[in-house]
Amino acid sequence: MTLQPANLKDLELKTGASAGELLEKIRNLREKNIGMDRIADTQVYISGMFVLRRADLLEAANITHIISVLRGRVDKTLIEQYTTSGRHLHIEVDDDDDENLIEHFQTTNAFIDKAVRGGGNVLVHCAMGISRSATICTAYLIYKKQIPSETAIDIIRESRPIVCPNYAFRQQLNIYYENLDQAMRNLDDVPAYQRYLYKKEVEMSRMAHKAPTINHYGDDEAKEGSDMELKCRKCRRTLALSKSFVDHQAASPPIASSSRDRILNAVGLNKPNCQHHFLDPIVWMKPELEKGEMEGKLECPKCKSKVGSYAWQGMKCSCGVWVTPAISLAKSRVDESRPRSAL
Ligand SMILES: [Zn+2]
Ligand SMILES: [Zn+2]
Repeated sequence: MTLQPANLKDLELKTGASAGELLEKIRNLREKNIGMDRIADTQVYISGMFVLRRADLLEAANITHIISVLRGRVDKTLIEQYTTSGRHLHIEVDDDDDENLIEHFQTTNAFIDKAVRGGGNVLVHCAMGISRSATICTAYLIYKKQIPSETAIDIIRESRPIVCPNYAFRQQLNIYYENLDQAMRNLDDVPAYQRYLYKKEVEMSRMAHKAPTINHYGDDEAKEGSDMELKCRKCRRTLALSKSFVDHQAASPPIASSSRDRILNAVGLNKPNCQHHFLDPIVWMKPELEKGEMEGKLECPKCKSKVGSYAWQGMKCSCGVWVTPAISLAKSRVDESRPRSAL
């Protein structure tokens, strides 16, 4: 916007700052958008896209590599020396809650690492240098320093106070930090990541009033890490392990007076008013869930007796709480027990 003396006067009155102070602030903000900032203790710079027009700034900072984190629209003529020598990486995402940036962290971290080890300086930019580029830089700090995402964001803010990854990117950064070793080996093996993708898919499908496409089903065999299992009351087939349980907020569980109660509390099962166990999709449900229906019944895969139901739009538990999405087993149709390996 162009500042007219009249609205400057207005701003003076509103903010109590003098015209001089206000102009100084605006100048700083503009420079922040055009300029780039070096992240303390690294060879990494962050900025918006305007900096690509400033060859002088890129040169002054001795930028050897560039990561562009935005969809389309990177004027390649401005950065030809980078694109033609393999020193440009383009990650095409919008600054949107639906975007998956975590799946690119391995690539961007390796790209930055290699550049830095060769003595280079890396510029990470998006459109404004606020959300997408900040997310990539945060992931790099998490990987490099093994620090939580909020700590990493604080470090970046020391040099660029306007950075602010969007909510979904923050969730992804947290998953990345909390599962760093596993995520670096194979992101697809991280249960928290699979659950995140599942929730996103269900949410998107629900808005479009259609059944979600499930890409990942939990298993009912690997019992390590589960201290409770649910078996078909009729034929004893294992139907679910506690790692697939989905908790919902009901009245607080009773005080644990036995080890059984403690386990039930720990896995969120000790809810006297709840007549359902809610679950993530499990592999035996696949034929039913792939029918593309919005809701339906679940049968035990062995004895075919009815054990539960599902509804992508959600269902109300007997405790009064809505659970969305809802895949449930009726407590009256299953028995709780401790898996053999946990005994
Ligand atoms: Zn309930
Ligand atoms: Zn059965």
